[in-house]
Amino acid sequence: MQQDHYDLLIRHATIVDGTNSPRYQGDIGIRGDRIARIGDLSAAKGTTEIDLAGRVAAPGFIDAHTHDDRAMLSDPDMAPKVSQGVTTVIGGNCGISLAPMPRPIPNPVTPPLNLLDSKGEWFRFKTFAEYLDALRRQPAATNCAMLVGHTTLRVVTMDDLGQPANREQIARMRELVDEALEAGAIGVSTGLFYEPAIAAPTEEVIEACQPLKEHGGIYCTHMRNEGDRVIDSLEETFRIGREVGVPVVISHHKVVGENNHGRSEETLAFIRKNMAQQPICLDCYPYTAGSTVLSVDRAKGSARTIVTWSKSLPQYAGQDLSDIAAQMGVSEEEAIGRLLPAGAIYFRMDEKDVQRILKFDETMIGSDGLPHDSSPHPRLWGTFPRVLGHYGRLLGLFGLETAVYKMTGLTARNFGLPDRGVLREGAFADLTLFDADQVDEAASYEHPIAPARGIEQVIVNGVVVWRDGRSTGAHPGRVLTHAKAAA
Ligand code: ZN
Repeated sequence: MQQDHYDLLIRHATIVDGTNSPRYQGDIGIRGDRIARIGDLSAAKGTTEIDLAGRVAAPGFIDAHTHDDRAMLSDPDMAPKVSQGVTTVIGGNCGISLAPMPRPIPNPVTPPLNLLDSKGEWFRFKTFAEYLDALRRQPAATNCAMLVGHTTLRVVTMDDLGQPANREQIARMRELVDEALEAGAIGVSTGLFYEPAIAAPTEEVIEACQPLKEHGGIYCTHMRNEGDRVIDSLEETFRIGREVGVPVVISHHKVVGENNHGRSEETLAFIRKNMAQQPICLDCYPYTAGSTVLSVDRAKGSARTIVTWSKSLPQYAGQDLSDIAAQMGVSEEEAIGRLLPAGAIYFRMDEKDVQRILKFDETMIGSDGLPHDSSPHPRLWGTFPRVLGHYGRLLGLFGLETAVYKMTGLTARNFGLPDRGVLREGAFADLTLFDADQVDEAASYEHPIAPARGIEQVIVNGVVVWRDGRSTGAHPGRVLTHAKAAA
């Protein structure tokens, strides 16, 4: 009797295929880096076989929002991500990209670029092509698709970041955007919220982003304001999308500040209305606290602040700012002055808003994890299992199929990643195998570094990268470009 043979054969899977369709039972046969067959393969054999006994096979999760630009090179096992079932990361967000760096990075490194590397040693790639070449020569465990950051471009083209860019500087930024997109970047990100980009008028962004349209790129933004002026910021984002002629991604959508609690009803209605006119996407992380560089203003608006790293006083990482100030016997403001440069977790959101945004049909899941923080926000290790477990299974915010769709098929479609984010014959063999009854985060604010529960095996381009609670050491990740560049 003729038997089909596969490199990897997954038997008795509950298949959640990433399209939001109902789950079904089947076997999955993988040859090389692709899914060759899905169906009844009981007569087939595999060089390696996995019997799931009814547990779930889903597309590998796509982390819609990361700061993994350097982690992929310095920590290529990508354990915080593959342990959650993530097989692809979108990097270069919030205006912060590791490349290009055609002149030396300022010392000390301009915040928030220091979130990627506070020493500055990794800002070593003169062009975006050089950076992507390094990722291809020394691949990570996960695939990646990268954005070029507007703040990085400001830092390399301007001497006074407190000003709008002049014509010459904008022209130079545009050249660098064009070079990055030509090399394989999938779009441009901005961080208009952050000090080095606050002075950039909307027109500067529109002008610098001009090459996006021709290359089929995307515009992602950490908006100028996520508090009192969030509607103005949404309007600015939509205008940039319209005038450049490309889709926009509202990064880590949220409403911050107690006086804005509940306003996600208003923002989501406004987003929905504008979605009828132009392509708009959004992502979200499943927590009521954010995390970024430490500052007096941000700490003042936060119900609780936890220090995640400090270059000058690293021993305080993981402690509450109020405790640190008490130990020092000084005000919180004075303590911040001693800790800088540093990072922090800020509790500034409302649980109902987080749930409403997560549940919104078009919301993708993105971790916004900060992989180099010594005591990171738990979103770095916990985002995807928390959405499946805490919000899906326990709170019933959505069914399993919808939760998976928000982290796979929807994300691949929005970022234009062909043959990713779905389980079907011919697609790339990126898979996450998990126990839907067990899956949840293990990381917490108190113990933020912990692999998730219930994630059994993770496969990238046909190769197992996570098994039995640990990295396998395989690094089969690829640099992904968007559909138009790939064609
Ligand atoms: Zn951000």
